[in-house]
Amino acid sequence: MPYPKYKFQYTSAGGNSSQESVIRLDTPTLNALSVTLADKIRWAKSAAGQRALMTAWLRNAIKERDRYACRRCGVSLAAEPHLLLEVDHIVPVSKGGLSTPENLQTLCWRCNRSKGAKIVA
Ligand SMILES: [Zn+2]
Repeated sequence: MPYPKYKFQYTSAGGNSSQESVIRLDTPTLNALSVTLADKIRWAKSAAGQRALMTAWLRNAIKERDRYACRRCGVSLAAEPHLLLEVDHIVPVSKGGLSTPENLQTLCWRCNRSKGAKIVA
């Protein structure tokens, strides 16, 4: 059975230039692909990868979900306009916690400082 070939073609908007490359999905190409994917997955699961997932958008989404209030003491931005709210990993990244909404919570800076790297149920 022949290896499948994929042709990628780019043509500029004006049609004046174009580029194409053909990728043959043979064993060396698949091996290189699996090495690349394994590296990406390893990085995504690493602490650095999880910290990189903490985008401004995600932080804002978590604060909005928690209605801009501390999930531990309940103080809110509505009650204290200058309150510093932080997004906290419930299971810390250093202990394998992921940057997913289920593992993130809004804490005020006071509660976050007193938490440290402890896991609180
Ligand atoms: Zn608090």
